[in-house]
Amino acid sequence: LTIGDMFDETAAKHPNHPALISRQQQIRWTYSELQAQINQCAKGLLKLGLQKGQRVGIWSPNRAEWCITQFATAKIGVILVNLNPSYRLHEIEYALTQSGCSAIVISPAFKSSNYTEMLYTLAPELKDSEPGKLKAAKLPALTTVIRLGAEKTSGMFSWEELMAMGEEISDEQLRSVQREQEFDDPINIQYTSGTTGFPKGATLSHHNILNNGYFVARLQGFTHEDKLCIPVPLYHCFGMVMGNLGCITHGATMIYPSEGFEPLAVLQAVQEERCTALYGVPTMFIAELDHPDFASFDLSSLRTGVMAGSPCPIEVMKKVISLMGMRDVEICYGMTETSPVSTQTRLDSTLEKRVSTVGIIHPHQEIKIVDPATGKIVPAGSPGELCTRGYSVMLGYWNNPEATDVAIDQARWMHTGDLATMDQEGYINIVGRIKDMVIRGGENVYPREIEEFLYTHPKISDVQVIGVPDPKYGEEICAWVRLKAGEQATIEEIRTFCQGKIAHYKIPRYILFVEAFPMTVTGKIQKFLMRQQSIKDLGL
Ligand code: ATP
Ligand code: MG
Repeated sequence: LTIGDMFDETAAKHPNHPALISRQQQIRWTYSELQAQINQCAKGLLKLGLQKGQRVGIWSPNRAEWCITQFATAKIGVILVNLNPSYRLHEIEYALTQSGCSAIVISPAFKSSNYTEMLYTLAPELKDSEPGKLKAAKLPALTTVIRLGAEKTSGMFSWEELMAMGEEISDEQLRSVQREQEFDDPINIQYTSGTTGFPKGATLSHHNILNNGYFVARLQGFTHEDKLCIPVPLYHCFGMVMGNLGCITHGATMIYPSEGFEPLAVLQAVQEERCTALYGVPTMFIAELDHPDFASFDLSSLRTGVMAGSPCPIEVMKKVISLMGMRDVEICYGMTETSPVSTQTRLDSTLEKRVSTVGIIHPHQEIKIVDPATGKIVPAGSPGELCTRGYSVMLGYWNNPEATDVAIDQARWMHTGDLATMDQEGYINIVGRIKDMVIRGGENVYPREIEEFLYTHPKISDVQVIGVPDPKYGEEICAWVRLKAGEQATIEEIRTFCQGKIAHYKIPRYILFVEAFPMTVTGKIQKFLMRQQSIKDLGL
């Protein structure tokens, strides 16, 4: 099945059921209304001459047009390139050039980014070119820019013009293009989050992401009656796969609370739309729980949800279950390269396993934990590199066979770069990234363990641990600590708290009190930037 066919199947089953609610845009569409928009957009793209295998970028925060573009491109086999709304000039130039986009859909602006101005800076030729006929020195593949809205902007088509162009293509023409698509065709290039360095473009097929979205929702018992609140970015697999594809494979309703993440908008959306499910990365749940008006919201409609993307602190999971009343919140683990989900917790596991592990393997996938040096499977409970295999493993990194060969071995195992343990029952614990493991005086130290311990300190709100260079031990432990509002603490006080409770070599040698951590827009902490900053600040 292709994504386009799946969408049509659901729309035929539930034509008058709500499909998409984009609250900031005041859009409420049924499945047949959304289908009409998607078909119109797909025809517009055909009219522009776009063909199977060509790349079309989308550079926009969460809006209805994102969803339309996602399904319209899938119908005609154009490869959608997700562009992070926070990209600045050099990042957008890299992604557009690396993927060779022929066309790009942009929203006019988002927060402090003016996308129109940024494109004019990158491709000054755009201002004086006829729409669809761009020739730019820096972006040689790019011919067409489509700007959301009705307003005319020099060198660009407006979204309304694109939709109007769709009138010139017949339903039969669209259907015949849609029939040519194969389930294992590449359909999507998603750049990884850039948590550990420069983002890589994972190339994914219909088969990869459609199935993954389906299984994530299915394990939570989704039906067409579910209404999913999607505050996670659509440009990331969490939003477009687990969110959008999870919904459309079950006929459920997609709800976008706001363009960018705003905790208040999420709480309002859940209350007013009676959402049954809520997705988020841990930092989003923390912000929702910490909102000053949290207690005044009625969240009783919430039945299920997913927390994923980075380590999910046990304390936060417990609060989501007790304070948000989300009995069935599940943790997922995965990566862009695996469509993304590989493991998921389940409601029928013990509470302990549900909050302290990332669950067990997903249907139709395999996992093994190996010694990164020898490639041999390690005994149960010992840390090693997590490798996965199955339908979910990406086709490869776009235009980067060397990186693909490092990540996926001959037997099609994806080497994730994550350190994990597996217990006798198959429950997985993520210990950290191989790159983040600290080797202090020959001892392997897992930052996660120290972080979980420091979270139990009553004054600490958030904490991240890294390794910094040390002439004597090779590396030393450094903790960045964010205190709860109004609290004060000394380095000595925190070190004393650790004494006798964790091994002496795990007690942070350095403690820095900070207000914030360097983060990707998906809310992931960029430890490589923390390391650079600590080396500078500590004069190492
Ligand atoms: P890059 O590969 O560019 O450095 P990234 O790995 O953060 O960025 P993603 O593909 O978005 O990009 O994230 C996948 C990674 O997120 C996983 O490899 C893992 O390290 C981490 N992760 C995802 N889910 C969880 C989870 N539930 N618990 C712990 N870590 C998680
Ligand atoms: Mg990664």
